Amino acid sequence: MSDIPTAGALSPGDTIGILGGGQLGRMLALAAGPLGLDCHIFCPDPDSPAFRAAKTATVADYTDAAALKAFAEAVDVVTYEFENVPAETLAHIAPHAPIRPGERSLSICQDRLSEKHFLTEAGIAVAPYAAIDSVDDLKAALADIGAPAILKTRRFGYDGKGQTKLHSADDAARAFDEIGGQPAVLEGLVDFRIECSVVVARGLDGATAVYDIAENAHANHILKFSRVPAAISEKTATEAGELGRRVATALDHIGVLAVELFVVGDGADERLVANEIAPRVHNSGHWSQDGTAASQFENHIRAVAGWPLVAPARHFDVEMENLIGADVDRWPALLAEPGAHLHLYGKREARAGRKMGHVNRVRPIANAPKSMR
Ligand code: AMP
Repeated sequence: MSDIPTAGALSPGDTIGILGGGQLGRMLALAAGPLGLDCHIFCPDPDSPAFRAAKTATVADYTDAAALKAFAEAVDVVTYEFENVPAETLAHIAPHAPIRPGERSLSICQDRLSEKHFLTEAGIAVAPYAAIDSVDDLKAALADIGAPAILKTRRFGYDGKGQTKLHSADDAARAFDEIGGQPAVLEGLVDFRIECSVVVARGLDGATAVYDIAENAHANHILKFSRVPAAISEKTATEAGELGRRVATALDHIGVLAVELFVVGDGADERLVANEIAPRVHNSGHWSQDGTAASQFENHIRAVAGWPLVAPARHFDVEMENLIGADVDRWPALLAEPGAHLHLYGKREARAGRKMGHVNRVRPIANAPKSMR
C-alpha cells in the first residue's frame, strides 16, 4: 500500500484494482503500464481477456466477501469497467480502499429512472418518460406520451437488451410481458437525425477533459462505427461538451464517463436529447487511442490515480469500427491496411454478437492547414 499522506493520489508502483475482466478492463490495464502502475483484475470468469494484460488476477464472485476484502487490501484504489457492479460488492470494498468513480455515479446510472430524474434536474433534455410498474401504468403512460414509444427495464439493459417498441396501446400487455414484467421506464420515441456521444474525464481535483464528439452508428443494437468529427454544428459540439462536463461534475464523478446523445434537427434547429450515461470508459471513446494526445483509458487511469489529466487534443479524423463476431477474421487484411490501427481483445471464441476487437482508421484532419497534414 502507498504511504503517500496527500489527498488520495497514487505513486508509481502502486496498484489499481479493476472490477471486471472484459476488453475495457484489459485496455485500462494496458494504459496503466506506461505510467508505472500495476493492475489487479477481479472477475468471476477464469478466462477473462483482461487477466493477460494485468499483473494480478482474482477469480471470484462479486459477492465473495473474503475475496473482495483481500482484493481491496491488496490495491491502492478500486475502479470498474462495467456499471452493474452490485452495491453489495462496493460495501465489501469500501472499508479497505477508495472506490473511483464513487458510489453515486453507479447508483444513479444503474437505474434508468433515477438517471432520467438526475438528467432532468441537471437541466438536460431527455425523451418524455414515465415510470412503469404494471400494464395499467403502461396504458396510462402511453395515453400521455403517445405511440410509438420504447419500454425499457430500469436495470441491467445493454445493447438493446431489456427493451421493446410499442406501436399502440394494444401493445401494452405484450410489451410488459416481453420485458419480464420488471420495473421499467416508458420513453417517447425521439426522431433523431444522428446519434453521438460525449466522453469526458474528471480528475480527483474536479478538473475535466472533454473528448471531441463522436458520431455513432449501430448494427443489430450494437455499436458498429464511431466517427470523429461528428456531422454536427460547432455550436452543438460545444453544447455536447458542456453537457458532458455538467454530468460529470453533478455526479462528482472521478474517472471517465460517456453520455449517449440523440441529435434532433439540423442547422439552426439542431438540439441534443440525452439517452443514457455510462459511468465508465465507453466503446464510442476507443477512437481516442489512436487519434488524440491521450486515450480515454489513460485519462481514466490518471483520474483514479489522483493525477493530472491530459487535455485530449485531437490529432486525426478517426473512424472506429467494432469487430463483432466473425468480423475479427479480417485481421490479416486490417493489419495490412494503411492508416488502420488494429486492437484485438484476446477473446478465444468469436461468438455472434461478441465484441472481439476494433480498428481505428486515422486520416489527417480534413480542415487542418496543409502544414499539419
Ligand atoms: P439504449 O439501450 O437506451 O442505449 O438504446 C439502444 C438504442 O435504441 C439507441 O442507441 C437508439 O438507437 C435506440 N433508442 C433508444 N431509446 C430511444 C428513444 N427514446 N427514441 C429513439 N430511439 C431510441
